[in-house]
Amino acid sequence: MTRGIDFCWTAGAARRQGKRVASAFVLILSALFGLFPLSAAMVSGVELASDRITLRFDDPVEGASAFLLDGPTRIAVDVGGARAGVANASGGIVSQIRQGQYSPSTARVVFDLDRPAVVTDGEFAADGRSLTLSLQPVSTTAFSLAARKARQSFWPPFGFRSTPRPSARNNVTVPLDPPAGRDRPERPRVSGAHGSNRPLVVIDAGHGGHDVGALSADGARREKDAALAIAKAMRDELVESGRVRVALTRGDDRFLVLGDRREIARRLKADLFISVHADSAPNPNARGATVYTLSEVASDRVAAQLAAKENKADVLNGVDLGSANNDVSSILIDLAQRETMNVSSSFAALLQREMSPMVPFKSEFHRFAGLIVLKAPDVPSVLLETGYISNEDDLKLLFSEDYQHDIAVGVRRAVEAHFARRLAQR
Ligand code: ZN
Repeated sequence: MTRGIDFCWTAGAARRQGKRVASAFVLILSALFGLFPLSAAMVSGVELASDRITLRFDDPVEGASAFLLDGPTRIAVDVGGARAGVANASGGIVSQIRQGQYSPSTARVVFDLDRPAVVTDGEFAADGRSLTLSLQPVSTTAFSLAARKARQSFWPPFGFRSTPRPSARNNVTVPLDPPAGRDRPERPRVSGAHGSNRPLVVIDAGHGGHDVGALSADGARREKDAALAIAKAMRDELVESGRVRVALTRGDDRFLVLGDRREIARRLKADLFISVHADSAPNPNARGATVYTLSEVASDRVAAQLAAKENKADVLNGVDLGSANNDVSSILIDLAQRETMNVSSSFAALLQREMSPMVPFKSEFHRFAGLIVLKAPDVPSVLLETGYISNEDDLKLLFSEDYQHDIAVGVRRAVEAHFARRLAQR
């Protein structure tokens, strides 16, 4: 069975203009040349059959890895030491192929699937010039489970493998005055395990300054104060664990716009972002914690908006947008965001698991929403509603140091489990 494939684009790499990255006071100029390692191989072709996918390369590559992406069902293949090329292919269970330059030395090929299938095996040809992945159709449920697993790696035969070479891309960092009209948020202090490469957790105390957040029934207690106290308790607990570095978006009673909060996390290259809030509801009996992650629906619009706004002048999750057109940017941001959303969701589940012995959760503890503060496409992010300030019992708890400590301990355990899991997957 064959049929025409309706797609193909290449990440044209001929030239790259220096563009301003809207980072705090920093201007990053990428050089006009050397976007890719000089002699990188190219993904020169793709062949599709009902039970396999074959990628061809015009030169030896370093290796490849495959992983599944859910919603919609896709197989992504990263090829090390390769440039994205043009793929001509037809048939099988693949409805569309896209290629992009994931990083200067890695090409990503994404296969949109007509029906769910997993990669059961992969093998390079004896000359290292092609990689064949074996596919097996599975149920939607089996696909979703498989999509949570680590990527599978494949290596060309010894002697037919290119070796990684340093990227030829030149980045120059130049101090830049802050843009006029609006103060950029300060770069927060990073605590714990200084100078180490431990994962960085950014904790965001919700609201602040003139934005007081929700109020208690008598109006005397404010969400912004609970959020700050709980965020600080989390920071102290995490710093004490010695396993991660921690930064707060705000360490005092100041106002930050939502976009700046996630921008801080992105600028610090955070590995995890936790926004801390307290809920309120007209029903005074409502209580318990809830954790929010970004919804799929919201993410698509975000992807498009980001692509338009940032106009290719940024780097997301290693996705180099400098060489991609707008459509491509949108696809790449979307990919980064979907992966991030999966990680965010699994962290949300860990939070509930580790916190619930001490902190009661609502029965529907995990919700999805298009919250602006969660929309950093490259930083796994959750928003934790720690309880209801509008409920008398929760109110007392949220402002008690013991309970703030309990929340912090639960968060610390979830963070440890999260990074242990991420490490194991690598
Ligand atoms: Zn809030």
